[in-house]
Amino acid sequence: MNKLIQAINFAADRHRNQRRKDVHASPYINHPIALANVLANEAFVEDDCVLIAAILHDTLEDTETTETELVQLFGQEIADIVLEVTDDKTLPKAERKRLQIEHAASISRLAKLVKLADKICNLRDITSNPPSNWPEERKREYFEWARAVVDGLRGVHPALEQLFDESYKARPLPS
Ligand code: NDP
Ligand code: ZN
Repeated sequence: MNKLIQAINFAADRHRNQRRKDVHASPYINHPIALANVLANEAFVEDDCVLIAAILHDTLEDTETTETELVQLFGQEIADIVLEVTDDKTLPKAERKRLQIEHAASISRLAKLVKLADKICNLRDITSNPPSNWPEERKREYFEWARAVVDGLRGVHPALEQLFDESYKARPLPS
C-alpha cells in the first residue's frame, strides 16, 4: 500500500466540497498538496510521515474526519502529527490564534515541519492568491501573526525556515 497516494485520495474525498478563500475559489485539496510539495521538493524533506501528515493536516480541523479514522488508516504516528497541528474548534478564534503562538515551541519536531509548510503556503497564497475580501491591513496582521507562530517553531529545519522568511519578505507594507 502506498500510504502517500492513499492520503491524497482520502483528503481529496474529505475536502471534496470545500474551496479556498481566493477569488477563484480554488479546490481546497490544492492547499494540502502545496504543503507536501514545499516539504518534498523545496525543503527536501524525505520523511513519509511528514509528507502524509501534510496532506492530511486540515482533515480533523475542517472535515468530519476523526482521530480514530486517521489512526486506523494511517497509524498513530501520523495521526499524532495531524492532531498537533489541529486547533481546538470549540475555542473562540482569537484564543485559537493566541494558542498557536503559545504552543509552537512545544510541539514535536515533525509537527513543526508541517506547521512551517502551512504558514509558508498561506503567506504565498495571501501574496499571489489572497482571500477575495481582505483589506491590506488584514493581510498585514496575518503576516505578523504567522511570523509570531514561526518564531516559536525555529531551530528544526533551516531551509524551511528560510523559505518562510522569503515568503514573509513579500508582506504588504503600510503606505
Ligand atoms: P482566518 O483565520 O479567517 O483566515 C485565514 C486562514 O484561511 C488561513 O490560515 C488558511 O487556513 C485559510 N485560507 C483559505 N484560503 C486562503 C487563501 N487564499 N489565502 C490564505 N489563507 C487562506 O483569518 P484571520 O487569521 O485574519 O482571522 C483572525 C481573526 O480576525 C478571526 O477571529 C477573524 O474573525 C477576525 N477578523 C479580522 C479582521 C481583520 O481585518 N483583521 C476582519 C474580520 C475578522 P488553513 O491553512 O487552515 O486553510
Ligand atoms: Zn493549512
